Amino acid sequence: MTRVLIVEDEESIRESLKLNLELEGFEVVAISNGRVALKCISEQRFDLYIFDVMLPEVDGFELTEQTRIKGITNPILILTAKDTSSDKVTGLKRGADDYLTKPFNLEEFILRVHNLLRRANISVGNMEEYSFGGNKINFLTFEAKGVESSFMLSNKEVMLLKLLVERKGEVVSRQQILNSVWGYDVYPSTRTIDNFIMNFRKYFETDPRNPIYFHSLRSVGYKFTG
Ligand code: CA
Repeated sequence: MTRVLIVEDEESIRESLKLNLELEGFEVVAISNGRVALKCISEQRFDLYIFDVMLPEVDGFELTEQTRIKGITNPILILTAKDTSSDKVTGLKRGADDYLTKPFNLEEFILRVHNLLRRANISVGNMEEYSFGGNKINFLTFEAKGVESSFMLSNKEVMLLKLLVERKGEVVSRQQILNSVWGYDVYPSTRTIDNFIMNFRKYFETDPRNPIYFHSLRSVGYKFTG
């Protein structure tokens, strides 16, 4: 599910944005305080970040900069109160991808959100199930049918499979996998992803030594074809 973080101290705006994004099928975390938001950014993974500029304790520019410093490359949308070009330039310079000047209409807001996610190649589809070969993965119930049997996947396995399936045919870098599946605070060893891929081959490949679905590209990343 696409996760969005909103940091906005004006309650009416915060609640309205949250509601509208939830209606789009997103999972939304809404926060009013900049310092609380910083903690949240360190601990959780989001596909899109929306920061108001003027916030208590830590402002939206600082949040943008801190998000980028953590190596997070997912899109950031800045909400500026005044239509001053200096605010926009500052936001973009600090690493934001787009900005909206208040007051804005919700349609435009939703449009910008979708554009940002599309540009970042983040799928907003809520895929429930995926079949390839004789295999089947249910991303909601974690049930899978593999080469030999039906079994349950772990949470991390489902997240990694979903990422690879959504980016089918593309190389997904180690960094992208770490960012989307493990978040930023707990970095697994590089072997961890390899072990996951090896397990996927055991589950889903007729001949795990000659995989046709789960490919490792040395020092580049991983690719799913199916
Ligand atoms: Ca504000």
